[in-house]
Amino acid sequence: KAKEDGKNRIVAYEQKMREGIVNVLAVENDLKRALKAREFQAYYQPIVNLADGTLYGFEALARWIHPERGMVNPGEFIPVAEDTGLIVELGSQILEQACTTMNQWREKYPIANNLTVAVNISAKQFAESSLPTEVEDILQRSGLPSDNLKLEITETVVMLDAMKSVNQLNFLKSLGVMLSIDDFGTGYSSMSYLQKFPTDQLKIDLSFVQRMEKAPENIEIIRAIVNMAHSLRLRVVAEGIETERQRDLLYSLQCDYGQGYLYSRPLPEKEAEDFVKNSD
Ligand code: C2E
Ligand code: MG
Ligand code: MG
Ligand code: MG
Repeated sequence: KAKEDGKNRIVAYEQKMREGIVNVLAVENDLKRALKAREFQAYYQPIVNLADGTLYGFEALARWIHPERGMVNPGEFIPVAEDTGLIVELGSQILEQACTTMNQWREKYPIANNLTVAVNISAKQFAESSLPTEVEDILQRSGLPSDNLKLEITETVVMLDAMKSVNQLNFLKSLGVMLSIDDFGTGYSSMSYLQKFPTDQLKIDLSFVQRMEKAPENIEIIRAIVNMAHSLRLRVVAEGIETERQRDLLYSLQCDYGQGYLYSRPLPEKEAEDFVKNSD
């Protein structure tokens, strides 16, 4: 009996595995179709100066506007896109949209000349030696000046092969784009590498911000990150700010910029444009 139960469990498990594989295949095929149909849209989340709440820029975040499922969040498709390599095509579609949109805003509203749009670069994209040329081409096609573009690369990705990353970051930096290290604090950076990376900013991972009140040791972690960043002449953005209290704490810790639902959710292009218009 026990043996049979065990066997049943294994059969059930194997079936689950197969369904999992079938599901990944289904998502992969649907992703391919969606890339051709241009169903991915960049949404834009405002990033503000913590001191006075004025607009500093936006982060472009991919949304899948699915004909049957409606809006699908990145958590559901980025991992599959990454595993299948489709992230490279997806990433360049989002990069192109973000640069084109930011340049249109720049032509309409003088203030947008001083704004940056931040675009996430995945592990696979970052590993491609063709990335700098691709970024250069997209900047040229869209007309966006390079210093209005910021590339976000996660700490874990840059630290995976820190020596190689120094080179790739230098190539990107030579285009004149801004560089930001995303989800900072979740990986394992050594200060000596941070010093070698030609980065402009660190983005403190939202998990620290959201645990700040319940677990005050996170305040000390943030304080340490901000102090280290400033001593390396890097600016600091905190993501995931949802309350006034979090905002006040971060400001008192001398964090420079903030992003989160307290200010705004990620917005479709037209609504984000209103944000720019109202700041102009
Ligand atoms: P990320 O780059 O760290 O982006 C920040 C995430 O935090 C976004 O989730 C954003 O919507 C969310 N967020 C912002 N403010 C708040 C807040 O106050 N509270 C909470 N709970 N969350 C907040 P989203 O849009 O679901 O994206 C998740 C991740 O997917 C991103 O994390 C990024 O790693 C990846 N991603 C999104 N778009 C792209 C893309 O175009 N390319 C690549 N390679 N990755 C992308
Ligand atoms: Mg990001
Ligand atoms: Mg992040
Ligand atoms: Mg993230």
